[in-house]
Amino acid sequence: MNWKISKDDLINLLNKISKDKLLIAPLNQGKDVMFCEINDPSDIPLDYANTVKPPKEFFLAQQETILSFGKKPSAYIDDRKKVLFGIRPCDLSGIISMDNTFREIVEDTNYLSKRANTLIIALACTKACDENAFCESMGAGPVAKSGYDIQLIRSGDDSFFASSGSKEGEMIIKENNGLFKKTSETPLDKVDLGVGFDPITLVKKLDDLFDDIEFWEDVSKTCIRCAGCNYLCPSCFCFNVKDTSSERRRGWDSCMLRGFTREASTHIPRNELYTRFRQRMYHKYKWHYERYDSHMCTGCGRCITYCPGNVPYREIIERIIKDV
Ligand code: SF4
Ligand code: SF4
Repeated sequence: MNWKISKDDLINLLNKISKDKLLIAPLNQGKDVMFCEINDPSDIPLDYANTVKPPKEFFLAQQETILSFGKKPSAYIDDRKKVLFGIRPCDLSGIISMDNTFREIVEDTNYLSKRANTLIIALACTKACDENAFCESMGAGPVAKSGYDIQLIRSGDDSFFASSGSKEGEMIIKENNGLFKKTSETPLDKVDLGVGFDPITLVKKLDDLFDDIEFWEDVSKTCIRCAGCNYLCPSCFCFNVKDTSSERRRGWDSCMLRGFTREASTHIPRNELYTRFRQRMYHKYKWHYERYDSHMCTGCGRCITYCPGNVPYREIIERIIKDV
């Protein structure tokens, strides 16, 4: 069953839903668009390309307390009800990728509580957000396949196709059938992003490349070790933990930084830049796939667009697939 909702009714819906939930959505911030807490849904730019930072920080904050020390240590759980509106399919795919890690072996209650209490309304893409995006190759866009409660796809008449991806999403559509209208039209779910590649071939090609030091030194030579590619990546989740006398805090870390693998003896196993760069590529394009059957890159293109060292990640991938 396909549904449609007009732009005005979408704002009405968000006003209604956000009465008892914190609304997080894109907002114009100077020349950029960032995910923020929203007071007035009519401020949300519905035609934005993509945000500079993905909204992963609402599940894994850049800095956060995870444990309070008192007489008895207690986990810090954020169980506020939230609605994340306007997340693009690539960034949703990044969160699904992070779920694998935070659910495995030891469940991360801090992260999982935020996941469980957040309703997700995704906004599919109807055009390429960035010349560097390759979401289609990675199976992460332009339309989300799962992970949303409701997904919206813009229609030519300035309204949105809507579909539910969960019981909660289905209920919202049913309960608001004055806002959602049934339609026999079907949305466009393809966007031409140019020539793509097969990520499974990449997994296989990486089998023989680990010891090609010359190659890894060459492709990483312009990297200035800023860690931006990790921090802006919707699926990078590595963090560091620090204790104070009253609490345990965690904050984003980066495998591109030299201190990331520093041991107590001060030995640094990945001291050379190329080893860190290679680690990032293998984790994203081989090891995560072998472990979880899904890729740890969504093809959002941010690591290319915002890299101050002009490291051409997509070209490197294409080079590995074609030439190496
Ligand atoms: S964003 Fe570019 S320069 Fe910065 S660490 Fe990543 S590859 Fe290196
Ligand atoms: S590795 Fe780059 S293209 Fe892939 S999801 Fe991360 S930032 Fe986006």
